[in-house]
Amino acid sequence: MTHDPSSDPIGTATGPWDVLVVGGGPVGATAAALLHMGTRDARRPLRVAVLELNRPAATPPDAPLDSRVSALSRASERILTAIGAWPLIAPTRVQPYERMRVWHETVQPRSADVLEFDAAYAGEPNLGYIIENRLIQMAALAAFESAGGKVIAGELSRLRVHDHHVDLETSVGTFACRLVVGADGARSSVRESIGLSAERSSYHQTAIVANVRSELPHERTAWQRFLHTGTLAFLPLADGCSSIVWSADDSTAAPLLAMSRSDFEQELLRQSDSVLGALKLRTERVSFPLQKLTALRFTAHRCALIGDAAHVVHPLAGQGVNLGLLDAAALSELIVAAFRMREDPGAQSVLRRYERWRKSDIEPIALAIDGFNRHLAHGAGPLSRIAQRGLALVNRSDEVKRFFITRALGLGGELPRLARERTAPLH
Ligand SMILES: Cc1cc2nc3c(=O)[nH]c(=O)nc-3n(C[C@H](O)[C@H](O)[C@H](O)COP(=O)(O)OP(=O)(O)OC[C@H]3O[C@@H](n4cnc5c(N)ncnc54)[C@H](O)[C@@H]3O)c2cc1C
Repeated sequence: MTHDPSSDPIGTATGPWDVLVVGGGPVGATAAALLHMGTRDARRPLRVAVLELNRPAATPPDAPLDSRVSALSRASERILTAIGAWPLIAPTRVQPYERMRVWHETVQPRSADVLEFDAAYAGEPNLGYIIENRLIQMAALAAFESAGGKVIAGELSRLRVHDHHVDLETSVGTFACRLVVGADGARSSVRESIGLSAERSSYHQTAIVANVRSELPHERTAWQRFLHTGTLAFLPLADGCSSIVWSADDSTAAPLLAMSRSDFEQELLRQSDSVLGALKLRTERVSFPLQKLTALRFTAHRCALIGDAAHVVHPLAGQGVNLGLLDAAALSELIVAAFRMREDPGAQSVLRRYERWRKSDIEPIALAIDGFNRHLAHGAGPLSRIAQRGLALVNRSDEVKRFFITRALGLGGELPRLARERTAPLH
């Protein structure tokens, strides 16, 4: 049974959803919570639901750390604090990191040519936090639900867009809403169903992810070495181990995945230039083919895309979730403001503003990340040599360093209000 919300004037409706967010990953769950909480004091708040096909099971507090982790920025911390999700993430599983050390394989890992970003340069206690992905997702969903939001367990199969509403066919029935938010990841069914085309290209690289224990302490530092075959990063974890993200050309990655654990550990030691001493695998290796994706439009009639559904960037800069959470905050800020002015939350004027805002922020970041991948991780030509020398030059300029630190903190560009400063939780 479907219900046409166009028959419900704003402010009096008792029918189904104003906004249905497809995908309750970290980004979708946060967007739903922001939309729901942002209008809770209204006479008739926005009715928001999340449709999620694969909600993660709760983790026992003493379970070993998962190898799928993300580096979250200050901006992301603020957004997750605003929805009340941050305190739901067990502090014993969160590792703040205070510096980043980045170097090219042509220089020594502890020499003056290593580019070092220290939180202290910017007067910050840390540059961000390394947290398991599933904990971020679970905390955002739990915050949304504890504020009265509805999570529907089901899978989107098809959607049909009408003038005043959208019908969604799912594995658990048909729903109608006035705005659909596609937060269903890189292979977004929302994006496909509404025919929003995307530029997509393969990096011909595979990211190998695992947790390792190191002989030397990680020093609350994210280490990243640019190799001629890719990038090798060590992200510090709360249990003293590190999460490796080794983005290697496909032809390099295949044998790395096939070799024995001890051969892999030896190769890791060699490619990390022994910066953390001997290394022992603590988890299985898992792999992700790497692609770049940018939707040509982030919005269509009564639809908006956020997070990986709209843009997928190379993981070398650890920006995917962070950019997605900024999408969630920007979209909800505009929709909540429109709703308070008694405008339709799915109005094209609101969606266009969102698209302009986020596209102009993301495009230069995606270009810069591509440039790092092309010239630092791979190239051998003149541009690459300049880029490699550039690492040492950046290291010598406090001002340029501060610029990069601000970006790493997620505090550059035009920020949504909630990311600009720490605010009290919305509920
Ligand atoms: C190796 C690697 C390392 C990374 N490291 C970092 C990092 O350090 N920092 C960082 O910020 N980013 C990082 N990223 C990127 C980050 O993982 C993604 O950007 C992020 O997961 C995107 O979140 P999302 O919520 O948009 O999408 P997803 O996490 O993909 O969530 C989409 C959700 O939608 C659901 N879904 C899908 N289809 C349907 C459907 N039809 N119906 C209902 N539900 C559906 C899925 O079950 C899922 O829960 C990394 C990525 C990789 C590959």
